[in-house]
Amino acid sequence: MTTSNCALCIPSTSNILWQDDFCRVVLLGDADYPAYCRVELLAHIKEMTDLAPLQRARMMRVVFAVEQALRDIFNPDKINLASLGNKTPHIHWHVIPRFENDKHFPNSHWAEALRDANPLPLDEHSINRLKERVTENIS
Ligand SMILES: [Zn+2]
Repeated sequence: MTTSNCALCIPSTSNILWQDDFCRVVLLGDADYPAYCRVELLAHIKEMTDLAPLQRARMMRVVFAVEQALRDIFNPDKINLASLGNKTPHIHWHVIPRFENDKHFPNSHWAEALRDANPLPLDEHSINRLKERVTENIS
């Protein structure tokens, strides 16, 4: 895979909650998991250990800022952090607030559904709060 056919190398069509010249935080707009966020490195780099130590720390600082913002605003039963990149080998972290009554709990949100979706109501106001909290936590 090269930058020309990588889904993360093109400008994001998702709602961008925060961005600098290194990475961006996007709200994916997932119907079953409305507060599902992803932290995406801007450069097409495959592994965390391809980054210099300070860059790794910078990436994780943003991931943890998003995790804390999601906890503060939505009080989830669990946060799931995942970095796979098998299909898209471009560093990105999934940050997913999970609830005991969500579609797949306690399994991965990529597993078979166990029940109907029970998505969080996420209105413009909560999205703005999330944006503000992510920004505060990073700065
Ligand atoms: Zn890429």
